[in-house]
Amino acid sequence: MTISRGELLIDLEALRHNLDVLTAQVAPSQVMVVVKNDAYGHGLVDVTKAAVESGICWIGALDVPTSLSLREAGISSPTRIFAWLLDPAEDLEPAISASIDLGISTVEQLNTIAASSAATPARVHLKIDTGLHRNGATPEDWPELVARARALEDQGTLEIVAVWTHIAEADDHEDSLSIARFEEAVAVAHDLGVPSPLRHLAASAAGFARSDARFDLVRFGAFVYGLPPGDGPSAESMGLRQVMTLSAPVSVVETLPDGRRRASIDLGFADGLSTLAPGRIGVAVHGRRHPLIDPLEVDRAWFDLADDNEVAVGDLVTVWGDGSAGEPTLQEWGDATGTMSEELVVRLSPRIPRRVI
Ligand SMILES: *Cc1c(COP(=O)(O)O)cnc(C)c1O
Repeated sequence: MTISRGELLIDLEALRHNLDVLTAQVAPSQVMVVVKNDAYGHGLVDVTKAAVESGICWIGALDVPTSLSLREAGISSPTRIFAWLLDPAEDLEPAISASIDLGISTVEQLNTIAASSAATPARVHLKIDTGLHRNGATPEDWPELVARARALEDQGTLEIVAVWTHIAEADDHEDSLSIARFEEAVAVAHDLGVPSPLRHLAASAAGFARSDARFDLVRFGAFVYGLPPGDGPSAESMGLRQVMTLSAPVSVVETLPDGRRRASIDLGFADGLSTLAPGRIGVAVHGRRHPLIDPLEVDRAWFDLADDNEVAVGDLVTVWGDGSAGEPTLQEWGDATGTMSEELVVRLSPRIPRRVI
């Protein structure tokens, strides 16, 4: 298959493999597949459908519009779709009617649910803040939140499905403190009449590494796509495979007046490539790495050919992939350009055609 410009290849076989690895790693806890930011740039609907076909019951969609678009795309109950970023001005009736699980941090949000005209009880996950200060009720506000939810549960307005939090996952000691605060909040909820909610706390890093962080459900984002954090263990060492490959054909091969030889691909910073890349990372052609060089243009990137005489216009250049064709992984790209691999994938322009295999 020849491609004319750049192409994003999404390998659903690799995605399914990662889901099997993550499911086995955390069993008997369950896996929630987080698909925010267009499934980390991999394609919301394709990724969600593949996850559901692989037996995943929980999808983390971030917000209500994304959740509803998944229901419209045919992701029906009993697949659970979780939305935790709620717009204060939002009418929650469509989400409740579509059986979307809602992450709830405040009594005001509970009141919004109570005021909605939905005919079915809302499914709510009550959020405690355990130190990250990114939403969540404080330990002081927690009893009131739980008590109000319990009262609404008795009225048939909602069902308390879960108690949850989000932790930093940057520091083991800090995470241990968050886990302890979480367990206290679960105990408080228990005493207020929530006997056995689902409990979820961890995202990729802590969920993979720490059995005491898994509880009933782990919210996996980055690792689903084979994207480990920078400077940490590689995807390979965890048995994960990078799902996305970015490639483009050679568009120009030329010799400069000083004798240096260079070649280009038609992907530039408008496509989402980082201007920090030249001099820091390379691309692979025929299994050989070549460093990117300045200038990174709006829609073109140059790489140095040195003594490589084999490269011709039309040859396939792999910008990043799982490393099997000699190319750098997204983890290497992230480390080289001082960012996370996740940022690189979510910054990609939607104008790059995506091919799902
Ligand atoms: C993004 C996100 C996740 C997934 O995080 P990863 O580190 O990519 O696994 C999980 N939970 C919440 C609340 C998130 O916002």
